[in-house]
Amino acid sequence: MTERIRGLIGKLASEHRLSEAEYAGLIACPDAAPMLAERAVAARRAIYGDAVYTRGLIEISNICKNDCLYCGIRRSNKDVERYRLSPEAILACAEEGYSLGFRTFVMQGGEDAHFTDAVLCGIVAAVKARFPDCAVTLSMGERSRDSYQRLFDAGADRYLLRHETADAAHYARLHPGEMSFENRMRCLMDLREIGYEVGCGFMVGSPFQTPQTLAKDLKFIEDFRPEMCGIGPFIPHHATPFKDEPAGTLEQTLMLLSIIRLIHPSVLLPATTALGTIHPRGRELGILAGANVVMPNLSPTGVRKQYELYDNKICTGDESAQCRQCLDRRMRGIGYRLVVDRGDYKAL
Ligand code: SAH
Repeated sequence: MTERIRGLIGKLASEHRLSEAEYAGLIACPDAAPMLAERAVAARRAIYGDAVYTRGLIEISNICKNDCLYCGIRRSNKDVERYRLSPEAILACAEEGYSLGFRTFVMQGGEDAHFTDAVLCGIVAAVKARFPDCAVTLSMGERSRDSYQRLFDAGADRYLLRHETADAAHYARLHPGEMSFENRMRCLMDLREIGYEVGCGFMVGSPFQTPQTLAKDLKFIEDFRPEMCGIGPFIPHHATPFKDEPAGTLEQTLMLLSIIRLIHPSVLLPATTALGTIHPRGRELGILAGANVVMPNLSPTGVRKQYELYDNKICTGDESAQCRQCLDRRMRGIGYRLVVDRGDYKAL
């Protein structure tokens, strides 16, 4: 590693920002990864210690009106058996999750017209009423500002909406013409203004991504300062236009986790299921690169296989309790511990 790269890492750790050209240079230097990880872990440890937060993920519907070119549940994929969970089934998942120690529930799904504001507000309110000590996170895609406001008023605390890429031209190559970068950004700004804890994020190694588009993602994270940031490798799905594209790499994902931790030391940063899919110890390595959240699956075992955004997704045959225990063991194995906690963002 050159003196210049060493200098950039030092600057990033102390000033929490670099220029786009500097980010692109750092990303292009795989040798920088160990030093980045060491600095990232120190930064995270100073705020969150050895605690790893958990979020119970409930995949409430795989019905989607969108046709994102990378996603296995895109509307053009006629091979998926579609499902949606009833409010009772969602509450049963949360019930089981609560008994396993989850204090945040993430309800994620495709953009399914069935989940009108009235329906979704009813579910949010029911979960909050039953589990007042838990946070509710939604990840249901793009909606109107009014809709986000109603869901917030019904009790939703957090919203995850990956920006996918901060480069408008790149966005247009990952999505059909009917979707727009401007609307995605509008959603993120609305969510922030309404008062949600907001998560953005992107796939590492998505088709047409370059060090320059990644540098824009990092600049966006600097400016937006999300409370949460979800990044994981792109993994091709066999029934999408990107079926023959290569997956994102473990090394680059780990390096970006470290960089994001240094940009924003208190950000809630998951070691994602996608990372666990491309490498058997991906999630452990993610934590050791600076992540501090894991999101095991609480969906009913019967539907897990149908929420397949990418091929070979892990844990689709497991029970929720198995997932929790498995992650607990994995985290203890690297000297960390899963905590029973809402895992709120710690503003510095
Ligand atoms: N409909 C919701 C939830 C999307 S699924 C929304 O629009 O936010 C959650 C995330 O999975 C997406 O934001 C995307 O970044 C990721 N994803 C989708 N397909 C993927 C793939 N093939 N490989 C890796 N991640 C993928």
